[in-house]
Amino acid sequence: QGNQTRPWKVLVTGGTGLVGMGLQRALKEAGGAKEGEEWIFLSSKDADLTKFEETIAVFRKHQPTHVIHLAAMVGGLFMNLRRNLDFWRRNIHINDNVLTAAHEVGVTKVVSCLSTCIFPDKTTYPIDESMIHNGPPHDSNFGYAFAKRMVIVHNKAYFNQYGGCYTSVIPTNVFGPHDNFSFEDGHVLSGLIHKTYLAKRDNTDVVVWGTGTPKRQFIYNLDLGRLFLWALKEYDEVEPIILCGGDECEVSIKAAAEAVAKASDFKGQLVYDTSKSDGQFKKTASSAKLFRYLPDFKFTPFDQALKETCDWFAANFESVRK
Ligand code: NDP
Repeated sequence: QGNQTRPWKVLVTGGTGLVGMGLQRALKEAGGAKEGEEWIFLSSKDADLTKFEETIAVFRKHQPTHVIHLAAMVGGLFMNLRRNLDFWRRNIHINDNVLTAAHEVGVTKVVSCLSTCIFPDKTTYPIDESMIHNGPPHDSNFGYAFAKRMVIVHNKAYFNQYGGCYTSVIPTNVFGPHDNFSFEDGHVLSGLIHKTYLAKRDNTDVVVWGTGTPKRQFIYNLDLGRLFLWALKEYDEVEPIILCGGDECEVSIKAAAEAVAKASDFKGQLVYDTSKSDGQFKKTASSAKLFRYLPDFKFTPFDQALKETCDWFAANFESVRK
């Protein structure tokens, strides 16, 4: 990369969501845009990226040199179970439109955001970057997962044909301020934060969906934002890289529910509704590649990040997505 002759104009798709807001915070913390750098954060109001005409129009308007591609139709387990077709079609269109438009306006680097949900369901653990295509993803979210996997195909083919660095990163479950806190459509941690807030307010129990035994790895959106800044500037492989912390970032849903209760100062009961689906039992991803590049990267401790998120949720209860 390192092409400093032309000023950097970084276009961030999906710049207003959970990951985009983490990136905005990380950029601010790093001192904002550097000299000769401009950042533009897009939301769906700027362009509907499922439509190519709107996508190319917004790329022609801004003429980016670099793209961080975050925009996607995103949802938790239960939304995926109901809408696999929509997840497949919308995401395949968004990704193809963004990568095609980037090429048309001469973008030199794209970092697209994938997810550990794309990994094979039946596999050995930990999963690393070489195992992504070794079997179908979990059936609950196959539409989303296959659409995301195709970004890797696109990037590789793009490199073979044109030689550019269109790459991707694979974060684990993201949480933090600006998440979608809906029970039906959101992710596990944001749902738990919302439920716990209400249970504390109304003096009721917290009902956790599933048995509580599945394990997940979590990454704070601020840490992910910092890692996106690194990937944009330093990571030059076309092949994806998993972004997650060490062993301590993997916790059971039960442990997560208990941590949310502690962070929210909730003293009531946690009960488990075992009639609800558990989803994949675990999907432990390996952070070995990341730590080879960044051996000294410090992730925010889970309890601290959770406390910041619960406090943010309580302070913004009226206006949060829920
Ligand atoms: P959010 O739902 O919080 O944000 C999604 C963003 O994409 C918003 O800025 C939204 O704009 C935009 N967007 C959605 N649809 C369109 C569209 N049709 N056209 C233009 N923009 C659109 O999601 P996250 O921040 O959580 O997700 C960002 C990326 O991170 C995604 O690629 C996701 O797959 C990935 N990811 C997320 C994880 C998680 O746990 N949340 C885990 C791993 C990966 P608007 O605000 O206007 O709606």
